[in-house]
This record gives sequence, structure tokens and C-alpha cells, in this order.
Amino acid sequence: MEQAEAQIRRVYLGIDIGGTNIRAGVVDGSGHILGESRQPSLAETGMRQAVERSAEAAMSAAERAGMSLQQISAVGVGVPGVLRSREGMCVYSPNFTDSRNVPIATPIRQALDIPTFVLNDVAVQTLGEHQYGAGQDYSHMVMITLGTGIGGGAIIDGELRIGSTEGFAEVGHMTIEPNGPFCSCGNQGCWEALCGRDAIVRRAITKIQRGEKTAIAEMVEYRLGSITPALIAHSAEQGDRVAIEVLAEIGQYLGIGIANLIQLYNPEVFVIGGGIAQAGRWLFEPILRTVRARAHMVPASTCRIVPAQLGDDAGVTGASVLAARELARLVEPAAAHPLAEDDEDSSS
Ligand SMILES: [Zn+2]
Repeated sequence: MEQAEAQIRRVYLGIDIGGTNIRAGVVDGSGHILGESRQPSLAETGMRQAVERSAEAAMSAAERAGMSLQQISAVGVGVPGVLRSREGMCVYSPNFTDSRNVPIATPIRQALDIPTFVLNDVAVQTLGEHQYGAGQDYSHMVMITLGTGIGGGAIIDGELRIGSTEGFAEVGHMTIEPNGPFCSCGNQGCWEALCGRDAIVRRAITKIQRGEKTAIAEMVEYRLGSITPALIAHSAEQGDRVAIEVLAEIGQYLGIGIANLIQLYNPEVFVIGGGIAQAGRWLFEPILRTVRARAHMVPASTCRIVPAQLGDDAGVTGASVLAARELARLVEPAAAHPLAEDDEDSSS
């Protein structure tokens, strides 16, 4: 009991490295952000620079929280892309220049002198939603984030699952439509090629070019390149038929992928994050309809499908959950763990 209380009193630093912004926050053991700081990611200047700016953001977050770095127990960092988290390395991050094999944990640990742990950003958000958001009280949860692409995270039997090469995050590249649009990954008909940001916008543009009546074109003064998923969601809310159709089509493809994941992972709750998830019933109704029509052996009724709750905070609070979790495993050596920093040496 005392140990549990001590853990709650601890504070952590959560860092969320995004394609646009780096956010750092000091987070207490109950998920409250006590102070935070932002820096532009400047992805075009490279991942190493972003890591340096992350450490700077962390220092000013601590200052704003009125804390010294010595008072902070551990640092968690969420990074978009493929990682070797045990080594604290970014293998590749598509949004960043010069992102191949860039150390993340070591430079931050050296700058702050605090134990530092890294993980894929969607896995981090999954930890956050599981601990403090839509996945609270569930032991089996799958999460996806809808944005430029689709990322995924899974907690099964109460444990985060990342796969042998941490590939679960790449769930957006499962094939949904054999002859579907080509994807940046080299495959065809990937989930994210059908439901990612560009695919949503492209669907609206195609309908406009076919001459379908919609207020969307006027709203962007016929500069169709300025259409955004948020604008489509807003137009659907206003009753725009084309916007509603776009979301229904996207919702159907999302539903197919979600039904597949429900068959595979048997989650109790399926959490959908990312901006477009806020499109509400116009997206969720076609998703639910499709899942009900397709999920039978593991029935749709066994899984709640809900929007994420933490919004933009999921990255920072989730990174604090990562920090707390990994620190607990470091100080309890009995619980051998894949992310432990000195795990490589233990076999020698
Ligand atoms: Zn793909």
C-alpha cells in the first residue's frame, strides 16, 4: 500500500514528438499535467535536432511546473515511426529528415540526467487512454489513431502488445481492398490508403469534380486542395449530403478493418483517436453498421467502439504512463522486461 502511494506521488516527464510540434509535460501519478511546454518539431531539420529540442522542452516544462529535474522520476517519449524501443532508437520516422537509426533515449537521458524510455507514439497514446481515458477498467483494448495515416496500439490481457519488430503500430498497412489505391508503403489497398487524411479529401474532390452538389466547394472558394477532413466533418454536421456520403464510405472501410481486428484480438473496447474521430455519428454510425454486419464469430456486441477521450493530451500523459511503467520494472529486477535498459548485458 505504501509503495502504491509512493508511486502516485511520483512525477514524470512525458514527451510527445509529433510531426508539427514537440510537447513536453510534467505529469503526476494520477495523470494531471502540472506544467508543459511546446517547441516546433521542424521535422525538415532532422530527428537529431528534434531530440535536442525535446530535451529543451522538457526543461522548460519542469520550470513551469515549479520543479527541479531531480524531483522527476523518469521520462517517457512517444516517437512517430518504427523504433527499437529497448535500445531507445528510432529506426525510421517518415515525417522527419535524417531519421534512420537515430538515438532518442540516450541524448535525452544525458541532457536531463533522468532515466528515459521511448516507444512508438500510438503505443504511448494507447497506454494513456488505457490508464486515464476511454480504455480505463478494460484489460483488452485496441486503439487506432486516424490522421495522415492509421496507427494502432493493443493492450491484451492487461499488457501492451507491440510485436517482434514493434510492428503492431503499422496496422494501417493491412490490405482491405485487393485492387485498392496504392499506398506509400508499396502495397495496394492498405487500410490507410483508403481511410487516411488524403483518401478522405480525395473522395470529396472526386464527388465535386463529378458535379455533385455540395457547399464544400464554395467554402474553400473552389480551391479544392484546401479541403480538410475537419471541413468535411463540419459540413456533414450541417447536413451536406456529399460530406455525409464521404464519411459513410470512409466509415465502411474503417468498419471492415475494425471488424478484422475484433476477430483477431477480441478486445472489450475499441478506441478511435485522431481528429476525424470527432466527426461523431456521421462516421461512427457507418462504422458500427459495418462491424455489426461483419463481426460474427467474435460478435460486434462483445466490443464497445468509442472515441478517444484524452485528445491532444494522450501523447504526454501516455508517455508519463510509459515512464512510470518502465521505471517500476527497472527497480523490480525480478520482473524481467523487454524494455529494460540493461537487458542486453544480463545474459553475459
Ligand atoms: Zn500501406
